[in-house]
Order: sequence, then C-alpha cells, then structure tokens
Amino acid sequence: MLSTHPRFPVSPQLTPAQLQLKLILPLAIFLALSPQIHAQECYWQQHVAYVMDIDFDDAKHQFSGKQSIQYTNHSPDTLERVFYHLYFNAFQPGSVMDVRSRTIADPDPRIGARIASLKPDEIGYHHIGSLKQDGKKLDMNIVGTVAEVKLQMPLLPGETTQLDMEFESQVPIQIRRSGRNNQEGVDYTMTQWYPKLAEYDQDGWHTSPYVAREFHGVFGNFEVNINIPSSYTLAGTGVVQNPEEVGHGYARTQPTGERVTWKFKAENVHDFAWAADKEYRHITTALENGTTIHFFHIEDSTLNLQWDKLVGFTVGMFNIMNDRFGTYPYEQFSVIQAGDGGMEYPMCTMITSGGSFGGLVSVTVHEAIHNWFYGVLASNETKYPWMDEGFTTYAQNIVLDSLFHRGKSNPHQRSYTGYIRSTKEGSDEPLSTEADLYETNKDYGANAYSKGCVFLHQLSHIIGQEKFDHAMKTYFNQWKFKHPTPLDFKRIMEKASDMDLDWYFDTWIGTTKTIDYGIHKISSVGKKTVIELERMGAMPMPVELLVEHNGKKDIYYIPLQVLRNEKPTPQGWEGQWHTQTDWPWAYPYYELTVNVPIEEITLLRLDPFEKVADVNDKNDQYPTGSLIFRED
Ligand SMILES: [Zn+2]
Repeated sequence: MLSTHPRFPVSPQLTPAQLQLKLILPLAIFLALSPQIHAQECYWQQHVAYVMDIDFDDAKHQFSGKQSIQYTNHSPDTLERVFYHLYFNAFQPGSVMDVRSRTIADPDPRIGARIASLKPDEIGYHHIGSLKQDGKKLDMNIVGTVAEVKLQMPLLPGETTQLDMEFESQVPIQIRRSGRNNQEGVDYTMTQWYPKLAEYDQDGWHTSPYVAREFHGVFGNFEVNINIPSSYTLAGTGVVQNPEEVGHGYARTQPTGERVTWKFKAENVHDFAWAADKEYRHITTALENGTTIHFFHIEDSTLNLQWDKLVGFTVGMFNIMNDRFGTYPYEQFSVIQAGDGGMEYPMCTMITSGGSFGGLVSVTVHEAIHNWFYGVLASNETKYPWMDEGFTTYAQNIVLDSLFHRGKSNPHQRSYTGYIRSTKEGSDEPLSTEADLYETNKDYGANAYSKGCVFLHQLSHIIGQEKFDHAMKTYFNQWKFKHPTPLDFKRIMEKASDMDLDWYFDTWIGTTKTIDYGIHKISSVGKKTVIELERMGAMPMPVELLVEHNGKKDIYYIPLQVLRNEKPTPQGWEGQWHTQTDWPWAYPYYELTVNVPIEEITLLRLDPFEKVADVNDKNDQYPTGSLIFRED
C-alpha cells in the first residue's frame, strides 16, 4: 500500500531571468521564497595569488624563497591578523608532530620516534627573514608550525593586501609525506614545503598545528619559479610554462652543472606540491577530452613495465570518475613516484611504488580520486576528514570494481567490515571528531575511511541509487572550487530526494549509535504470512525485506516516517516492489502481512542490496544459515 505523504518543501531551481525578477522584490519576500538562492549568495571564500621564486641548493638540501601573496578578504569581517602554516617546522625534535607520534597508542611506523633523533642538518625548518604588508614590516610570533601575524593595517571586507615574505628553509630527511631521499630513492618530495597562508572561512580561522594528518587551504592561483641544477626533472601541481627550456616532456639533456628555472602555473587550486629527481622517467597520455596525464617514476626495468601498464588503468579511472562524479576540471594531472605511501595534492599525487601492481593501481586510483574529493570539493579535511577520505574510498571501490571486472554485489564490503568491526571493538568515534583528535590511528581509519564510505552507500539506500548518483554530480558542479560542509551536502541530497535527512546526518555523523534490525517472528494467518520485524539498534533506517516464493522475488519497502517521502522502485529491479506504510522510528516492532502462504516462502532477507550497516546479521534472514552475510 502506498502511503500518502505531504512532500517536503523545496525551492525550485531558478533560471537567471527568474532570479533577476526575484532580486527586485522586497528583501523579506526574497528571503522567504528562496532559501536556496539565499544560501548560495551568502557563501564567500578568501582568495590568494602566490608568486614564489625559489633558489634551491641541492648540496645543502636548503632553499631560499621570495613569496608574494595578493590576499583578498571576501569575508564580511575585518581581519586584524593572519596566520601562516610552517609545516617543515614539524620535523624537529619536540615538535607537536614528534610528541603526538611518540605518545599515540598505535604510532604510525613511518614516524614513530624518528623525528626525535633528527640531527640539525636533517631537520626541516622555515626561517622567516622578513614579512611586509604593502611594504610595511610585520611582526610575527612563531609557535611551532604556525606563524601568528598582526597586520599593520586591518584588512577590510572586499579589500586586497600584498604580503611579501623572504625565507630560508631546510628540507628534512623524509619522515612523513615531505622530505629528501625517500625509501625508494626519490631525491625530493616537496609537499607542505612553503609558508602557506591559513584559511579563514565561515567557521573562522583554521590554524591547526601539523601533526601529520589533514589540511585546509585558500583557493587561488600559484606562480612558482624553481631555480635548480638542470640535472633534475621536476613534477608537480600546475602546468610547466617553459617545457622546452627545462626539458619537461622532452629527452633529458645530460647533466651539465648548469641551473635552470622551472616555471609552474596553477589556477584555482588550494595548494602547490612538487617533486624532483635525477632519474625520473616521464611518460604521458591524454584522455579523449584533452586532459593530459603525466607519469614520473624512477627509471628501472621492472618499474618501467609496471608504470607502462598503469597508464591504461589511470585513463580508465579518469573516464569513470568524469562520467559518474563530475568532470576533472584542470588541463593536466601528474602521477609522481615520491613521498611515503600515497598522498593527494591538487593536480597531482605522490605515491610509492614498491609493492604489487594491484597495490600500485589501488594507491594511484585512491589518491587521484582525491582531486574530486579534496582538490575540487575542498571540504575542511581537519574538521570533516570523512568528506574527503570516506567519499574517496567510496569512489575508489566503484572504480576498482570496474577496472578489475570484479562485479561484486557490494564493492564497499571491506568498508562495511571495517566499520562494523570498530563498533564491536568499541573503538568507533563520532564522524564529527576532528581528524587530529581521534584516539588512535586505527580509529581514524575505521571512521574517516570506512564509516565515511558506508555513509554514502547507505545514503544511496535511503534516497535511491538513481537520485543519489544524480545528486553526487550536482554536488560536484555546485560546490566545485569551494569548501562544502556536511550541511551543504545534506541540502543537495534533500533537494534531490525531496526527503528530510536531518535524522540520518545528525545521527550517523554526530553519534556512534548503530543499526540493528531483525526478523522477530513469522506466523501463518490463513493463506497469508505475518512477518514481525524488530528494531534493536538505536539508529533508525528505512527497511527492505526480500521475500522469495515460488521462484519469485518480491521486495517490501518500509520507509521511515521522518523521511516525509519514499524512494521510487530501483531501476532494473524485475520483481515486485511493495511500498508499505511508514515505520515511525520509535516503534520497536513493525508487522507486515504478505499474500503468500508460509509454506511457500523459501527465503526472507533484510537488506537484499547489502547497503545497510546492520551490526548484527544473525537475525537478518529466514531460514537462517542459507546465505553467508558480510563476507569480506
Ligand atoms: Zn585518502
């Protein structure tokens, strides 16, 4: 039986002409009628334009830098101070990263106690020589990895100021992400490598000290000129402006001891990273839409074969992502052997390459997908790490399933297993936990990656796969080059589904409540069967029950009352689809009558599409034991 809900009110999309008409209406009417437009108009973000000239001394592993930033304050607030991240200062004994790495219950083996034993010529640092605002000297207070700067002239809303800095830096031995001489012999991994202006957004300043986790940055343009011996090949964010001069994409000239200046330009990005090595092999390919993909790895007979093979998989990944999640908007991307595992940066990724070919594809796919969920949809990763790691994991599972033709019924099964295990071990934390503040590295993984991925797949169960897929693209197109928050994402999903999703976002993100539904009782009433379902978990969910009888498959779909709507029959479902009356979440039991005699029922199964993270699958089917659930 279909329930008749009043539809959840949603304001319609407006054409530019309609919008113009609305703008001339009195403000009160405008605000009342178009909350969606109001929300878009209220959004603002700061803007930066960096020009950096870097003089690199590879004998000392040091560089001097001149940095000029045009900083525009689009906020409605007057700014008295600004802050810079000085990430290289983390690689010093006694730093916050060092202490955190030595005191967390499950230290990252890449860091452990290694920072504590760095010698003066092995540490990283930024020594700030001078900083000026529009030519006037500024004082600063350097606290570990953050410089606190009082402006000479407050920066008013809408104004632009110029910040000029001179600095001397030392590249640390590779510890985490950045550094020299990584485990695979890459000379320089230059990530989190320059004094970087902190972001000020609707939530205020974001000045977290660097403890080896996530980032948040200001969108803008970068011009980076790196003067370095000509024997190095460089790779990184942006587009090389003088490829012929430096040998980018051309046969490398033999080392001559001369110096060259690599000129990079990147537009509409929130970070800039690069790497350099004397042995890099550089290959390229292009997508049909023109995007160029560059690959840089150390010349080696085994690696040459692996990376040649990697090209096709990377192209496949871009094609799937462009099709399903939105078009990659930059003209090029670089896959770079560097770093200490895998890490995402705008327009490039740093990955290590020592393991199996499957591992190489997996890490490339994961880190490249971050250019959608981190690079372009630049949520604050420190506050909402699940919006980049969880969303990336979700897309990665789909892409890998397709690239390797696995055809899994649930390609996200590993994420479900990881999340459910954490609930059983009692180590799950609310997704709203700040990235740096998870109790353990393991908790962080189970939550940001696994629970974040489950969040999306489960959402496709709630609103329906087709609406979900469409809304993910809408999300990309409406929020690209911005900093979406969970609330922004919720509104996209609510408008796409015409559902109220408060209960799902608030409970899944803000609590550790779990889902557990079960088949409580089955009884025969004449030629019908009465099935009593039970909610045992504190977290509610819409329920689907598969009923198999006489070779037929029926699904009984029970919406939650708080949704104020129900999803349509999934496309491609060939059996009967029976939408039932709502289940008000507070009721522990729900009675369902099926027009099939009990003896003809061969299988009852909750969650037939394997999308609900039910923490106890023992009571999810009848007769029990005929199917194995939750197999990883
Ligand atoms: Zn990731």
